[in-house]
Amino acid sequence: MSKEQKEFGGTIGAIGLMIFSHFVPFYFTLSLRYNSGGPYFPLSFNEFIENFKETCSPTWSAFYLYTGFCLLQLIFAAILPGFKVKGLPVPTENNRQYTYNCNALASWYLTLILLTIFHITGIFRLTILVDQFGSVLCVAVICSDILSVFIYFYAIQTNQTCRMTHSPIYDFFMGVWLNPRVKILGQDIDLKMLAEVRLSWLLLFLLIVSAALKQYEAFHIVSWPMIFILTAQLLYINACMKGEECIPTTWDIFYEKWGWMLIYWNLAGVPFVYAFQANYILVNSLRTQKPTEGTSMILIIVLFIVLFFAYYIWDSSQAQKNRFRMKQRGTYVPRNTFPQVPWNTLKDPKYLKTNCGSTLLIDGWWKYCRKPHYTADICMATCWALSCHQWPGVLPYFYPIFFFGMIIHRYTRDVSRCKTKYGKDWTIYCEKVPYAFIPGLI
Ligand code: NDP
Repeated sequence: MSKEQKEFGGTIGAIGLMIFSHFVPFYFTLSLRYNSGGPYFPLSFNEFIENFKETCSPTWSAFYLYTGFCLLQLIFAAILPGFKVKGLPVPTENNRQYTYNCNALASWYLTLILLTIFHITGIFRLTILVDQFGSVLCVAVICSDILSVFIYFYAIQTNQTCRMTHSPIYDFFMGVWLNPRVKILGQDIDLKMLAEVRLSWLLLFLLIVSAALKQYEAFHIVSWPMIFILTAQLLYINACMKGEECIPTTWDIFYEKWGWMLIYWNLAGVPFVYAFQANYILVNSLRTQKPTEGTSMILIIVLFIVLFFAYYIWDSSQAQKNRFRMKQRGTYVPRNTFPQVPWNTLKDPKYLKTNCGSTLLIDGWWKYCRKPHYTADICMATCWALSCHQWPGVLPYFYPIFFFGMIIHRYTRDVSRCKTKYGKDWTIYCEKVPYAFIPGLI
């Protein structure tokens, strides 16, 4: 066993985070159901149990909905045509390079087409997701917990572990298996990537569309705040699908193991917590029966402008870095997925050669600060929350606050990994690009 340094506060931190992560989506669901997204305070423990049973009991229909969705995505991943890319060499597996068949975009389009047909023809009304939100959430939580336990023991049993510590709880939380792959219909599928790209974001989008359709069913209009949150999520999720070929070389794939943290947050946390704003707008529209009252059109216009600008920086900066790295490795093949934003590929950019062999981009957005995409992501998260301005409340702001904390923590983890990897070159890089998030400020 190697002496892997513990992150997230070690074993105690892992236990705390697992409890907190279970609490958050259920609390939000109860707050939406019993206080229109305001703070939820049951008067007694019995009341809490009754509320929980009424709203979040797992049902067979929720089970079929959730597992049907996951199974469909698994089958799409196995059969749809994709764009093949190689991942980074895996040092713990003799520098083996896995191949990824990036067909998330085809899955995304096909899922949207099928569900549109099903919804319009009445075969499957998408509003069922918002009607059974709590039950589907409970099924997702149970499935992700069971899957985490299974993956943990399976990887140990089959000797596919890496970077283990002496704490089983911490290892269960962080994961023990770096590249969880299965063969489905003859196709090698990376479960970590499937969960990260499709199961989490695609389900989130369906939950949001479900809330918008419910609002439309009730009032025959979709309010501007709802249109805003739909647009924001559509842009974000489409970007994850259209740029899937850049994901195998990201930190989640080449470094993070597939443990409880990733499994739970991809299968349950992201879709059900990040859908809060759309549900908040929906429940308050239904409560007041006035879906448009209190909307500040000036704020909505400002939010759209900030969103498009932040999205542009987020998309183009990541494309610049990933394409630069692909060109360096000789693996770059232009892919005409929609939309291709201007300045997403740099011609002869400046970069820093380092002693460990890797190169660091110091051109494009990357000459202004070291994490332009994090800053843009924080801006987008804040816009999501502000879309709930019609009905003032605290809980819509949980997401940007949570995201800010998570991304700053991710930043510190990344910096400490890069300092170890690049040594003196990291200091040189930080001298050339002195600001982390906002040029001239921090
Ligand atoms: P980054 O895209 O920041 O990648 C970090 C790695 O990139 C470093 O470890 C280093 O790896 C390499 N790198 C750093 N600087 C440079 C440079 N100047 N030139 C070339 N390579 C460089 O990683 P993340 O995975 O954290 O973020 C990706 C996106 O995902 C972000 O937009 C983030 O906001 C988003 N995200 C969203 C979440 C959500 O829940 N909504 C959750 C997590 C992330 P090396 O040099 O070793 O290759």
